[in-house]
Amino acid sequence: MNFKKSQKLYTKGLKNLVGAVNSPVRAFASVGGNPLFIKRAKGSTIIDVDNNRYVDLVLSYGPMILGHRHKKVQRAINKALKNGYSFGASTQNEIKLAKIVCDAFPSMDKVRFVNSGTEAVLSGIRLARAFTGKDKIIKFSGCYHGHQDALLVAAGSGLATLSLPGSKGVPEGAVKNTLIATYNDLDSVKRHFEEHDDIAGVIIEPVGGNMGVVIPQNNFLKELKVFLESKDALLIADEVMTGFRSKFGGAQELFDVEADITCLGKVIGGGFPVGAYGARNEIMEMVAPLGGMYQAGTLSGNPIAMAGGISTLTELKRQDPYQQFEEVGKQIETILLAAAEKYNVDLTVNRFGSMLNPFFTNVKVTNFEEAQSSDTEKFGVFFWEMIKNGVFLPPSQFEAWFLSSAITEEDLAKIEKAVNKAMEKVAEIKN
Ligand SMILES: *Cc1c(COP(=O)(O)O)cnc(C)c1O
Repeated sequence: MNFKKSQKLYTKGLKNLVGAVNSPVRAFASVGGNPLFIKRAKGSTIIDVDNNRYVDLVLSYGPMILGHRHKKVQRAINKALKNGYSFGASTQNEIKLAKIVCDAFPSMDKVRFVNSGTEAVLSGIRLARAFTGKDKIIKFSGCYHGHQDALLVAAGSGLATLSLPGSKGVPEGAVKNTLIATYNDLDSVKRHFEEHDDIAGVIIEPVGGNMGVVIPQNNFLKELKVFLESKDALLIADEVMTGFRSKFGGAQELFDVEADITCLGKVIGGGFPVGAYGARNEIMEMVAPLGGMYQAGTLSGNPIAMAGGISTLTELKRQDPYQQFEEVGKQIETILLAAAEKYNVDLTVNRFGSMLNPFFTNVKVTNFEEAQSSDTEKFGVFFWEMIKNGVFLPPSQFEAWFLSSAITEEDLAKIEKAVNKAMEKVAEIKN
């Protein structure tokens, strides 16, 4: 396997692109080496410019839940393209996607489409403040909610991978209303409420996916929701990653918790730039033109993106692959743990449905601090050996691996072989 053309493009890309990437998570900073350039993808397979073929466990960081270029999605997009690309006016398909989303999430009566997860969350936060008339927001350390100023503190994978505490260029004033709590620790939330009486709500990834996979323990989400209700504060569920992935109705369906405000992205666009935020009528009526909270977007509800979203979600609902995800995820977990035992490598695997990842540690991982106990040097070695054996992983210890419904038995065999080779390499590292 060689990476000559990727290497060439990387060098060329450095001239006019920042680090030759348009999102820092695509850089290979923490695993060493340079990013691969992709030519195309189909089903569960992604192919780089040197014609190396990989089982894709990145899936564009989640959106490609059906695998790449599903026939029905491709057909819907081709059809939409014939009618025009953007109108600056409403279309029937926006109503259609809104109904699919509101039917899937009982906590939402109305939804507003935007162009990314970041936009969905920053609008959701604005809405929480508008509705409650309070300013402060609690977030959990290690949760990522997009790159808006107010939430770019203790923000998980991208920053953790680059070892950045937060971001330059974020003024102190922008984060002065952001309070940090510890995932799976309700007391850390309660303490903030003892000290502040102007907390609008708590934003959470209902399953953590941006510090590696971190699962809510026991009744954490339910207890959090009950507590917030008692304080007249809102639960803002950032389901950008988990929406339509944990279950069709997201983590809220799975854990039987209703959020006050829900933010969506990733799968909802099936690979096109779509985000959404929604809530019950009483809250959404705050949003312009019905109410006084302003939020707008030239390309929001874009017809091609709506076609991508509708066709992806319709097919996803038809396939109902959640049991399959559970089984395939379990198989990969077993492969990882067996290889770790064989080669005597400390390993913790966190898995939740179609999201999973290994941590190179013997510690149980339930929050960001525990996630950071992972040996990232070992991950770097593991990563490259997986690449060389045909498995495309996110180039960071702190990103989830994703499954698509297009994964095959042959893919699993390839993953098993690669994992065993990679674990053998990891075992050669001196502690
Ligand atoms: C990816 C992600 C975002 C940001 O979405 P973008 O589309 O990258 O702006 C926000 N929240 C969570 C939980 C995410 O996983």
